[in-house]
Amino acid sequence: MNDLLLSAAKNPLLKNILSSAGVPTPVSLKRQEGALSATPLKDQRLAFFSLDQKAPEALLAALSEKGANVLSYLPVSKELQSKLVAFGRHIARLDNLGEADKLDALVFDGSKIQSVSDLEPLYRFFHAHLARVVANGRIVVIGAESVAGDSTFARALEGFTRSIAKETGARGITANLILHSGHAEDILVGPLTFFLSKASCYVTGQILALSKDAVKPKSIPQAQSLAGKVALVTGAARGIGAKIAAALAAEGAHVVCLDRAQEAEALAETARRLDAHIFHQDLSEKNAAEKIAAYFKTKFQGCDIVVHNAGITLDKTLKKMPVESWQRVMDINLRAPMEITHRMLQDNALKNEAHIVCLSSIAGIAGNFGQTNYSASKAALRGFVAAMANEMAKINGTINAVAPGFIETRMTESIPFVTREVGRRLNNLGQGGRPEDVAQVVSFLAQPASFAVSGQTLRICGGSLLGA
Ligand code: NAD
Repeated sequence: MNDLLLSAAKNPLLKNILSSAGVPTPVSLKRQEGALSATPLKDQRLAFFSLDQKAPEALLAALSEKGANVLSYLPVSKELQSKLVAFGRHIARLDNLGEADKLDALVFDGSKIQSVSDLEPLYRFFHAHLARVVANGRIVVIGAESVAGDSTFARALEGFTRSIAKETGARGITANLILHSGHAEDILVGPLTFFLSKASCYVTGQILALSKDAVKPKSIPQAQSLAGKVALVTGAARGIGAKIAAALAAEGAHVVCLDRAQEAEALAETARRLDAHIFHQDLSEKNAAEKIAAYFKTKFQGCDIVVHNAGITLDKTLKKMPVESWQRVMDINLRAPMEITHRMLQDNALKNEAHIVCLSSIAGIAGNFGQTNYSASKAALRGFVAAMANEMAKINGTINAVAPGFIETRMTESIPFVTREVGRRLNNLGQGGRPEDVAQVVSFLAQPASFAVSGQTLRICGGSLLGA
């Protein structure tokens, strides 16, 4: 993980030299270390704007409870203000800001946009406040997927968010859009908190659509949100899988780390650190799904979280690719997640409110030279999660995919220097992500607070220009 530009940016002298030579240096991203606390937005100064005349008080209360200092143009009730005293917070007036006042986050609720003129406040709000946002700040736009079946203005919000993400990325600021199909404040709290928190530091320029029929879980803990849950992570011996296992364990889950027998040593090391169970299994074996379902049913009376992380690449241009490379990539990257999911559902090995996350890839969105097999398998997972969302809804569960972009791993370290530099910089944030960044997003999708997110593929790519 030797990013010379990122290291140079930490040295003021080198940074000045590079900047006078016209070389932009990326901002060091502020990352979430370990589990999210009950107040992940602690002391975040957050400006909230809504086209609605009435403040969404439940949402503002939830953000304040999570530690944010909210400022708004909207009048709020005395009841809300006195409720917030308990968290040491109150909603301040946004029009009282001084010239030099800074903000950590801007949230614009455009759910009520119904005409071209309604879009103008979007310009006015960001024009007035964008320069106040500090490095590593957050922008979240909220919109309705459609108004009376018309998604014209949802698309406008999409274009706006993707562009503002490009304009602010050099300062480590992320901008994302949440689209909902009915303005229920409680479905917004989890996704909004996630996008405002450090856990989403490598997610920008993305659109997250919320399901309108989602059933709120029995409980959404404020901290240690996976306590008492059992999680399976495939390919957990090393790389991204090991970090996902660690992130889930940090949130209180009991993790079962699965990998091939030849990875026994690395797997044992990961499991030892997390006090996790070990499951030796080659996922390309015919009866793998059956064995996994039976294991969780008998040992834990079912599984709460499944992360289909194990994956391989066997790259060759199509003309030179032997059929075995096609088959093996499909077996591990696609057949295994599909069969395990179906089998666990069929055998009741998934508990009520279970969450499934598949590791797709940006190659499954943009395609990649020499990766027809890999890209097809990873793109298929996007379709798979979309298709399975209804099935998972029957057990009040969710299924989603994440699509990592350029992540600093052993794999990317071995790419030739120039290609690696291009890969690293071709995104809004001007740097590669880390396995921990992927793990934080997977952890969010495994948590009860993400109950309204299903059938989605969320990119973790710093707003990569590939497949944009
Ligand atoms: P990795 O090669 O470091 O780890 C993959 C793990 O999967 C290994 O522990 C391996 O032993 C295990 N595995 C492979 N075949 C298996 C099998 N037949 N049965 C059981 N386990 C098996 O990979 P990584 O970089 O950590 O990637 C993890 C996932 O993220 C993969 O699905 C990959 O496609 C995806 N991804 C990675 C990147 C990246 O930049 N590294 C980008 C996009 C997507």
